[in-house]
Amino acid sequence: MTVLLEVRGLVRRFGGLIAANNLSFDVVEGELHALIGPNGAGKSTAIGLISGEQRPDAGRVRFDGADVTALPIAARVKAGMTRSFQITSVLPDFTALENVALVYQVRAGHSFRFWRPAAGERALLEPAGAMLARIGLGGRADVPARDLAHGEQRQLELAMALATGAKLLLLDEPMAGLGTAESQAMTDILAGLKGHTTILLVEHDMDAVFALADRITVLVYGQAIASGTPKAIRGDPAVRDAYLGEDA
Ligand code: ADP
Ligand code: MG
Repeated sequence: MTVLLEVRGLVRRFGGLIAANNLSFDVVEGELHALIGPNGAGKSTAIGLISGEQRPDAGRVRFDGADVTALPIAARVKAGMTRSFQITSVLPDFTALENVALVYQVRAGHSFRFWRPAAGERALLEPAGAMLARIGLGGRADVPARDLAHGEQRQLELAMALATGAKLLLLDEPMAGLGTAESQAMTDILAGLKGHTTILLVEHDMDAVFALADRITVLVYGQAIASGTPKAIRGDPAVRDAYLGEDA
């Protein structure tokens, strides 16, 4: 088991409030690791500290063998960790295929300004098409992003995040705002990515979390109170007291 992401002693204060309170946990290469906890527990703060959107007041983030605590977002993306919808937004007038091709183009170091002619290159369109197929949008490649359904736009964001070449995908509530069928589609997609891409998933939908996660870390008041398999987490009395409640 190789540890891909090592979070150690992260502290993040907002005035008198401590959103990350000596937060430590590991994500192992290849796993789908879920981060759960009540509203305001500090899940989004943790994702922000890991992705580089936020700086910790104390603590370290190590990724793929290197300390990335001081690195800006772009350098972390280059190192192989990407938050969905982070480095690039979906361009509504461009097709799903063009949006993904753009990510491959930026990755290849081309200027954003000249993207249109370059995005017509097969070297960009072929991997973009393959990525869309992998994410279940193969049949929607030529649809402008603005005409995609809400769930399809989420899928497109995911395809774009993967197109950065991410070894670690950071997802903060990818099911939020989706209907039942769309949530199920997203769950199926994430299940299909399991084992190929390491994923750190923040999600409220406990059915999805317990169906997908190899391991779960439970956050309460900015601290990890438990990490373990779904079975171990379900059976953990401290977790039940703090969070899952009697019905879990
Ligand atoms: P979660 O994602 O688990 O719901 P958050 O990480 O968004 O929790 O927030 C953790 C705590 O930090 C909450 O009490 C929230 O109000 C607070 N918080 C988050 N971001 C900020 C901010 N930019 N300024 C002030 N307080 C914040
Ligand atoms: Mg949040």
